[in-house]
Amino acid sequence: MSDHVLVINAGSSSLKYSLIDGHTGEAAASGLVERIGESESRHIHHGPDGDAEKTRAIADHEDALRGALNAFEEHGPSLTGIDLAGVGHRVVHGGSQFGAPALIDDDLVAAVTDLVPLAPLHNPANLEGIEVARRLFPDLPQVAVFDTAFHQTLPEHAYTYAVPLAWRDDHGVRRYGFHGTSHAFVSQRAAQLLDKNPADVNVIVLHLGNGCSASAVQGGRSVETSMGLTPLEGLVMGTRSGDLDPAVPAYLTRELGFTTAEVDRQLNSSSGLKGLAGANDFREVSKLRAGGDAGAQLAFDVYCHRLRKYIGAYYAVLGTVDAIAFTAGVGEHSAEVRAAALAGLGRLGISIDAERNQSASTDARFISPDDSQVAVLVVPTNEEWQIARETLAVVSRSC
Ligand code: AMP
Repeated sequence: MSDHVLVINAGSSSLKYSLIDGHTGEAAASGLVERIGESESRHIHHGPDGDAEKTRAIADHEDALRGALNAFEEHGPSLTGIDLAGVGHRVVHGGSQFGAPALIDDDLVAAVTDLVPLAPLHNPANLEGIEVARRLFPDLPQVAVFDTAFHQTLPEHAYTYAVPLAWRDDHGVRRYGFHGTSHAFVSQRAAQLLDKNPADVNVIVLHLGNGCSASAVQGGRSVETSMGLTPLEGLVMGTRSGDLDPAVPAYLTRELGFTTAEVDRQLNSSSGLKGLAGANDFREVSKLRAGGDAGAQLAFDVYCHRLRKYIGAYYAVLGTVDAIAFTAGVGEHSAEVRAAALAGLGRLGISIDAERNQSASTDARFISPDDSQVAVLVVPTNEEWQIARETLAVVSRSC
C-alpha cells in the first residue's frame, strides 16, 4: 500500500479532489469540477504536465468523479499505477458523535444523514461525494474527516449556550465550531515552528478566508472557537455577519415581515464584507478602500476590530499564549489586517516586525521580532494534507 490518498471535497455544485502523499504532503495532482448540473460545467485538472481544462455538461457528482478519473488517466498520474491507501472525504458536520475521523460504513452514512438538519447545505453534498466514491472505489477504505471534530475537545462551559435545557438536550443546540481541519493543521505547524511538542504550546489560530474563524488551542486541544451551531457565528466573513444580537432576526421578522429563511439567507449571503462594502472578496475591498471608499474603510475597520476582540478574549481564555498564527487567504496575504489586528498590544507581549510582516514569502514564517514574548506566525493552511494524513492514520489502524 502506498501513502497516497485521494482527497475529495464535495460541495452542492462542485467537487474538489487531490491526490496527496499523506506522509510528505506532496500533491501529485488536484482538480476542481464546478457548476455541476449546468450545461457548461467546468473541469480543471492540475497534473504533472500542467493544467488541462474542459467545459462540458456534467450531470451530477458521479459524472464529475468519473471525469476526474478520466483526467488522471489522460493527463496523469495514472491511478492504476498507484496503490491508493484510501479515499479521504471532507465532511462539514459531525455533530457531537464524531470527535475524530472515522472509517466510512453504512452506519456512518446514516449518522451523517441524521446530522443534515444541522448542516442542510453541506452534509447532503458531502454524502453525495461519499456515495459516489464508494460506488467507484468499492474495494478502497474511505474515511470521513469532520470539520467539527477538532473542536469536540471544547469544555462544556465553552460549548454551551445559555438557552433552555430542551433546546440543548433535545435539539443539539450548542457550539460545534468549524474549519477544524485547518485549526488542527495550523496549530500543529505552529508548534513545529516553535520547535516544541503541540502538547506544550498554547496557540491562537486565526483562519481568515471567505469563511473566518478563530480558535484557542491549549496543549494541542481546541478549548474555544468562534463558530457555533453553524458557521455563521463569530468573526466578520466574506458574506456572513458573524456575531450579532440574537434579537435582530426577530426584530426584522416583526418589523419588516421577513421570513426566517430570508433573514437566514441575508445573514449568510449578503452580510459580512459584502453587506458593508458591497464586495465579498477581500482584495476587492482593499482596492475600494485604497480609492477612498467609505464603506470599504468601515468594512476593514469592523473586520479588524472584531478580530482584535477575539484575540483579547482568547488570550484571557488561554492565560498564556505562545503563538498567534494567521492563516487562509486574508490571514496569509494581508499584512494590513495582521498589523491592524495586533497594533498596540505590546503590553500583552505581542508585537510585529514591520519588514517581516510585509514579506511576500509564501512559506510558514515568523513575523514577530526575535525577542517577542508571543510568536506571531503566518502559516499557510493545508486542509487537503491534513485530511490525507488523518485518512492514512485511520486506514493504518484498521488494517
Ligand atoms: P480562502 O477562503 O482561504 O481561499 O480565502 C479567500 C479570501 O482571501 C478572499 O477574500 C480573497 O480576497 C482573500 N485573498 C486572497 N489572496 C489575497 C491577497 N493577496 N491579499 C488579500 N486578500 C487575499
